Amino acid sequence: MRRDLSNLKDLTNLRLIILPTFIITHVITLTQISRRWLKIAALALIGTAVAYAAYTTLRTLNDPRSQTFVQWASGSPADRASLITVQREACPDAPFILPADGFIGLLYADPRGPYSNSHPHQGIDIFSDAEPGLTPVYAAYDGYITREANWKSSLIQRVPDDPLHPGQQIWLYYTHMADRAGNDFIEDAFAPGTHEFFVGQGTLLGYTGDYNGSSPRTVWTHLHFSVVRDDGNGRYTNELEFDNTLDPSPYLGMSLNYTCAPEADGCTAVPTCTTHE
Ligand SMILES: [Zn+2]
Repeated sequence: MRRDLSNLKDLTNLRLIILPTFIITHVITLTQISRRWLKIAALALIGTAVAYAAYTTLRTLNDPRSQTFVQWASGSPADRASLITVQREACPDAPFILPADGFIGLLYADPRGPYSNSHPHQGIDIFSDAEPGLTPVYAAYDGYITREANWKSSLIQRVPDDPLHPGQQIWLYYTHMADRAGNDFIEDAFAPGTHEFFVGQGTLLGYTGDYNGSSPRTVWTHLHFSVVRDDGNGRYTNELEFDNTLDPSPYLGMSLNYTCAPEADGCTAVPTCTTHE
């Protein structure tokens, strides 16, 4: 009896040992399996990211126009100077002036850099051959400046009557006019909260900078300039959506559309090649 009881006790003890061991072993095995899958998934993610980065870099390098980027990044001062467009007067038959001097590196509808075919560049980037805060930015046309209360580096200008499409209202967007920390280079007349401040074409608005919001990606000192559609109710639409923007080429009299521009190279009599305006 005693023995039996003892056996029973042993059995109970055995169960007490086996059951947790069984559970623990299986949990560990499961954890090991899920860890292994996590590792595989992480490696797959990293692999995809690396492949995508390589693909975009190769595509960019394959584009002959990207040679100018290499020249801008690593060329001599003379190389850089040769890339700069200086156009303080409006081109013949064009209504706008170029808002800043510089290297017009990223074009309208450009899929390069941080952009892609599905999210092409909504404006033009004019890179400055100077430190942030030195290259002037001028109003491209007559219109009413607004700076929303939380805008650190941007202005938007309402043009009530589109010179190329009379009767239609458009907006001109100027951004990156602050340093990396967000200290702005915008003229005092356009403090945050400014609403409908009229300026004539050529009015000094501020200076180019390298502000890029909270993004960890550093940007070269430049002005991003875009022509933005009205929503039909007197408000500007979201400039980040390509379809809300217009090709600036006919407004500036320059070939600035990536899909047709051989290279942005000053005034031209035929600035556009597509119907996307
Ligand atoms: Zn841009």
